[in-house]
Amino acid sequence: MLVALERKLNMVGLANVFSLLALLGFIASLAAHIAGYAGIERPFGINPWPLHVGIFVVWFPAVLASMKLSKGFPQKDMWKAALRGCQKWMRHALYGLFGYAFLSFFAFFVLAGDGENEASTVRGFSGHWLIFYFAAFAILRSYVSVSRSDTIRRCKYLHVVEPAHAHCPECGEYVGRQY
Ligand SMILES: [Zn+2]
Repeated sequence: MLVALERKLNMVGLANVFSLLALLGFIASLAAHIAGYAGIERPFGINPWPLHVGIFVVWFPAVLASMKLSKGFPQKDMWKAALRGCQKWMRHALYGLFGYAFLSFFAFFVLAGDGENEASTVRGFSGHWLIFYFAAFAILRSYVSVSRSDTIRRCKYLHVVEPAHAHCPECGEYVGRQY
């Protein structure tokens, strides 16, 4: 019991650390993206390409967290389940970024036609880095807050009912929808 609790606390602590890294990655990607528009290849003289690799550092724990968050939820609600713990503005910002990155990717191909250079390539790629870093940030924040707020629900026969379910999986008693 204590070991399980400790493991959970450590997971939350790690998710906290990685969410901070994801936020830093997002800010750095945003700087690289804006610099790309200004025709600058190396913002503040720093090579932005390690950000491409850095995605994997935060994406791996984000995938683990999203698997835990969406456990038991139907496949179509996976994103909703993964983001259920994060604040509303984070969800809106993420959907906004998806739309923007799509346009930015499209613009990259159109504009690349008339003279591709390093800065425009950085701009094209960093549009995607923005999404990956921000999605990892939102999922990890969601995980941290859900770990603190998800309550263990039980039916009247004391069977455990997972957050995804409204009915007890063992006896079928209705316990209400949590999400
Ligand atoms: Zn039951």
